[in-house]
Amino acid sequence: MSYKKWFDEHAKKHQIIMDKLTQLNDKEVIEYFRFENMVKNEPNFCPLYKENKKCHDTQKLNCYLCACPNFRFNENGFAKEGKMTLFSKCDIKSPEGDRFISENAIHQNCAGCIVPHKEHYIEKVFDRSWLHIMRKVPCE
Ligand code: SF4
Repeated sequence: MSYKKWFDEHAKKHQIIMDKLTQLNDKEVIEYFRFENMVKNEPNFCPLYKENKKCHDTQKLNCYLCACPNFRFNENGFAKEGKMTLFSKCDIKSPEGDRFISENAIHQNCAGCIVPHKEHYIEKVFDRSWLHIMRKVPCE
């Protein structure tokens, strides 16, 4: 699945949950998206939930911002670096981020970064529309 397809499908799944939570205040919405609650009440939101697995090895994982508003992707590539095309990058150059480099492509590797999974960060950028928070992610 391309990142764009995943992004569009994830936006729909997020919106369906948000439509159920209109009675909750912002803090309660963020708490609802804690991993432990999501595994129990929203098992189809993430494929890892079925195995009770986390995408990052951290005790307090919040899934409201899967994915990250600082991620940038362009299916046509941002730039050439030698023979390789840069398809994705981190807008804040997080020191916890890394790169996947293959023969022809460079992709952002967020495996070691938990910036968007921290509740104080989610509170900082919070909006009830996931697409609004993510509005700068797809660059076409
Ligand atoms: S490295 Fe961290 S801050 Fe940067 S895009 Fe990835 S998850 Fe977001």
